[in-house]
Amino acid sequence: MPELNLGALLRPELNELSAYLPELGCYSVRLDANEAPPLLGREARERLAEVAAETAWERYPDPTARELRGIIAARCGVSPEEVLVGVGSDELITLLLTALDRPKRRPPANIVTLTPTFVMYKMSARARGLGVVEVPLDAAWDLADESVLRALEMAAPNLVFVASPNNPTGTMVTLERLRRVVEAARDAVVVVDEAYIDFAARDQLPLYREYPNVVVLRTLSKIGFASLRVGWLLGRPDLVRELNKVRLPYNLGAVSQRLGALVLGELGDEVGRVCRSVVDERQRLGRELARMSGVEVTPSEANFLWIKTERAAAEVFRGLSERGVLVRSFHQSSGRLSSHLRVTVGTRAEDDAFLAALSEVA
Ligand code: PMP
Repeated sequence: MPELNLGALLRPELNELSAYLPELGCYSVRLDANEAPPLLGREARERLAEVAAETAWERYPDPTARELRGIIAARCGVSPEEVLVGVGSDELITLLLTALDRPKRRPPANIVTLTPTFVMYKMSARARGLGVVEVPLDAAWDLADESVLRALEMAAPNLVFVASPNNPTGTMVTLERLRRVVEAARDAVVVVDEAYIDFAARDQLPLYREYPNVVVLRTLSKIGFASLRVGWLLGRPDLVRELNKVRLPYNLGAVSQRLGALVLGELGDEVGRVCRSVVDERQRLGRELARMSGVEVTPSEANFLWIKTERAAAEVFRGLSERGVLVRSFHQSSGRLSSHLRVTVGTRAEDDAFLAALSEVA
């Protein structure tokens, strides 16, 4: 049998992509994925196990995720018709890109996003053949509004993605700059990704309430439940109705739905306590880093810190890895990213191990 010529069948954009693969090696301290430290109390853990045990294993999950959507709606002060849940916010990004891809001018339809930011906006867009225009953040890692307005004119995008707080910089975009973009992009959907909002001093729900073209994304992944893969989108009911047409019928499993509802409802206070302790530890870690020579820290509104090292970040990354500490490096990228590392706030002990290793290699 001759070999199958896969290349003749594949979408050409796949040539430029590599699969998203986290570092799989063995490290004693993993501060690379912006997960929460394991600080959840014993009672909460027992309650999760108890509720999981009540699952009707032989049944499909509720295809409309009514209970979970109801709890999210109540927490965010919106109606359940404005809530769509997905397998992490990753899935919601793909639903938006799949549904909103009618070209405005010549094909393909475009998206506008910022750089550096979360890679999945670009990857998922390219995997669907959409065009991507990336606008660099300014010197303070804030949204460069004039440049974004020019990109809107040039690209006429269907979707604009803004993560705030942003990954990997930990910064929030200035509200007035974001408002300018939302107003200039009236004929596009502006996705405000609030994956890290539980660690920030304010949220962007007022913009959502004010402008019909704003969509908000949130997730359980950063606040201690990355294992469940629960994310949600807030959007106007007519948009949510259309996105439901491209969503697979039983996207979110029963355990994720039920435990997600438990986390946001009954266990809300305990989860809030974990988030506050992450914020306290972020402040401590930030202070310790600010004291080190050869290291600069950007003030963060997320559960990680964005640090600049005098030595090449690639070398610092290697030195940390050799000492069993994994952080996130962007050394494959050139320019200003090549001097930066992103480190997730861990437990006090993990962060101390990171600080000790860093003081040897920075
Ligand atoms: N948005 C941002 C800004 C992120 O950093 C991440 C995770 N790295 C996600 C979305 C995806 O989160 P989820 O686990 O909900 O798919």
